[in-house]
Amino acid sequence: MVIDGPMFIDGEWVKAEQTFEVINPATGVVIGSVADGNQTHATQAVEAAHKAFASWSRTTAHSRSAILYRAWQLMLDNKSELAALMTREQGKPLKAAANEVQYAADFLLWFAEEAKRTYGETIPSARPDQRFIVQHQPVGVVAAITPWNYPISMLTRKLAPALAAGCTVVVKPAESTPLCAIEVFKLLQEAGVPAGVINLITASDPAPIGKVFCEHPAVRKLTFTGSTAVGKKLSQDAAVGLKRVSMELGGHAPFIVYKDADPVHAAKGASLVKFLNTGQACICPNRIFVHKNILTEFVETLTSRIKKMRVGNGAEEGVAIGPLVDEKAIVKIENQVNDAQDKGADILCGGERLTGDTFADGFFFSPTVLTGVDDSMLIYREETFGPVAPVIPFDDNDDIIAMANDTHYGLAAYVYTKDLSTALRSVEQLNFGIIGVNDINPTSAAAPFGGMNESGLGREGAREGLLEYMETKLAGFSI
Ligand code: NAD
Repeated sequence: MVIDGPMFIDGEWVKAEQTFEVINPATGVVIGSVADGNQTHATQAVEAAHKAFASWSRTTAHSRSAILYRAWQLMLDNKSELAALMTREQGKPLKAAANEVQYAADFLLWFAEEAKRTYGETIPSARPDQRFIVQHQPVGVVAAITPWNYPISMLTRKLAPALAAGCTVVVKPAESTPLCAIEVFKLLQEAGVPAGVINLITASDPAPIGKVFCEHPAVRKLTFTGSTAVGKKLSQDAAVGLKRVSMELGGHAPFIVYKDADPVHAAKGASLVKFLNTGQACICPNRIFVHKNILTEFVETLTSRIKKMRVGNGAEEGVAIGPLVDEKAIVKIENQVNDAQDKGADILCGGERLTGDTFADGFFFSPTVLTGVDDSMLIYREETFGPVAPVIPFDDNDDIIAMANDTHYGLAAYVYTKDLSTALRSVEQLNFGIIGVNDINPTSAAAPFGGMNESGLGREGAREGLLEYMETKLAGFSI
């Protein structure tokens, strides 16, 4: 069945003259036909959000919280349906899709709670007649652009805090995963979000929509998750109107296994986080640095675990690795693997596109371990966004922190050690926004997520995630 997907503008489900197709990346089968929005639709959506801001921003935090609680409950009630749709549209295995829906719901719950805690402060003045009061107020209309790799949680990580703060929102989801966004909007509508407060523009060409978001004077904040190249371009365009921006961009995570670490435990962690979402997560390790003393045991464990991972359609029982998003992703990975091999790296498993039989019409790449990777290779510098684990040996003479920091990215990093001083020193010296110490999942709705350097600006989730959508207003009273 092909799903017919409209946009959502000013409380109405709206069709467009043109549509575009959505395919299942595991099978190549068309699963949806979605409204192809244009600049007129985007402008209508921004203006609807602008109109709705006047009343929504004056609702009480308690009433906004109640709507978010309802949305949270509805998302949990619909977890298996949402997960099944995500697997068809994005490709990740059903269990991983269900975990993502849970993570997405966590943001609705967290910000339902935080909505009521946007405390201000009073500040003593040097003047006896003066009193200062600081309040937080919503910034206004928010434009949000989200990626395909986490098609539901990246939506709620922006929508929940924006709504909690009292902002109104226009969302443009990625062109390969609009169906998940449509379902989330249906739930939010059912939860009682008023007309105009949330708007959804689906489009096959993101650039014209992004232009409206950056240029329309009513948009006061742009929040974006995606590649660093697009994030930089949007930040530049938004700067003309001095709009606030939050940027969650690419990563190139180092994964450091010190010589005192347990190589088996570390390899288990590496196999799980590197191959998360078929390697298509911004926090996936991209450079696995392993001390020479424990290299053999680490690599043997990693390779044997990876060889056991079943690749296939995420809807099938037992599949651990789904398809990649598209042909371009396969070409990028092939390029990195061939370049590494030409320059002397060894392929211990995988290393090629999977074709024929059940793989024929999808975008599958076999999970790969590369050893002997060095800084002359593309994979040492470029984000891979695929199922390739490059292992780089180091020894006591190497400045491992400098090697890990040798990137313009700064999102996630991982450290494996049993030594407390090594762990603390690494946390302090690594130029990354999120650091897992013997931990492959340092994320939660309650914890600030975001990158340093060219991995982004601002934080999502946690207390910080709400303040991203609020102005600080000072009032000085003479009494
Ligand atoms: P992308 O930048 O190509 O696309 C992301 C979004 O931007 C999509 O909605 C797309 O339609 C839109 N877009 C693309 N060009 C645009 C333009 N000119 N104007 C307006 N919108 C435009 O990135 P992608 O390939 O979809 O996503 C993968 C990237 O996202 C990776 O680099 C990954 O690391 C990053 N990512 C970061 C985080 C994080 O939280 N830091 C989370 C997930 C993904």
